[in-house]
Amino acid sequence: MGKVNTVLGPIATEDLGITALHEHIGFGLPGCDLDTQWWKKPDEAFDVTLQRLNRFREHGGKTFVDCTGIGNGRDVEYFQVLSRRTGIHIVAVTGFVAGDSALPYFRNKSVEYLTDLFVHEVTVGIEDTGAKAGAIKVGVSRGGKLSELDKRIYRAAARAAVKTGAPIITHLSTDPMTAINIFDEEGLPLNRVLMGHADVGQDADDERDEMIAKKGGYVGFDTLGYDTEVENAPYWSRPRKERVDQFLRFINKGFLDRAVVSADANCCALGWPGLKGHSVNYVFEEFLPDLRKAGVSEDAFEQLLVHTPAKFLTLQEPR
Ligand SMILES: [Zn+2]
Repeated sequence: MGKVNTVLGPIATEDLGITALHEHIGFGLPGCDLDTQWWKKPDEAFDVTLQRLNRFREHGGKTFVDCTGIGNGRDVEYFQVLSRRTGIHIVAVTGFVAGDSALPYFRNKSVEYLTDLFVHEVTVGIEDTGAKAGAIKVGVSRGGKLSELDKRIYRAAARAAVKTGAPIITHLSTDPMTAINIFDEEGLPLNRVLMGHADVGQDADDERDEMIAKKGGYVGFDTLGYDTEVENAPYWSRPRKERVDQFLRFINKGFLDRAVVSADANCCALGWPGLKGHSVNYVFEEFLPDLRKAGVSEDAFEQLLVHTPAKFLTLQEPR
């Protein structure tokens, strides 16, 4: 019987249900906890977050994976409160969104130190919350190539994934071979890795997506809703139809079971405005209707939202 770590303790794989694999309660850069705007409106932020999570549950959503790395607003005690209030399973991660968003404290740490940190958070717990991390987050710093620090973090994550059986979620799929070579060298099969944000406009690459899928990896169409059509769209946005078409080309090649969909939304962003109106519910309210119009079946949705996340998140036997 498989299990997955949530902030309120491990649960059986079958209990995950409809799962959003890459979301945020609130992401911010290091220092975001000093954002005084946040302190001035804590009730409002809490209300908005509850509304969005409750709507997620009304859509049938049961599990919310918060991909916020250490020091980027990851607040496990807050996640525990939200999980109890909404009945939604929340999974927290260990790791960093990318090297350049890690706190200075961690930037000169060795691979061994980082490995021990990630293993500790998956097997013992995060700080003194009693909660264990359910996945390991890594990412590519700005510039598109893995920095020396990124490589150290990827290698530590790979070692921790092998030791604990937890999966790895990446921020960005750029420079894929550098990442894949590190995973290979550490003996981590690519079916334990979600190469995320493959749908970001400036980095979209069908051949890369196919290469990752053929090696057994998961490809994340997980910045859904950052559409250029939206007011104040950030630089990584792209026309909505382009993203849908990239996704359809991918699944039409037979890679439905390698695809992950999520919105990378913030319930309430920290220290930046976030994207107005954007939420985890974009998947239900906008993306699935787009796919229905394109003739994608309800069975495919079940694969995307239930079966794939369950298989990916289930902790493997440590090796
Ligand atoms: Zn994210």
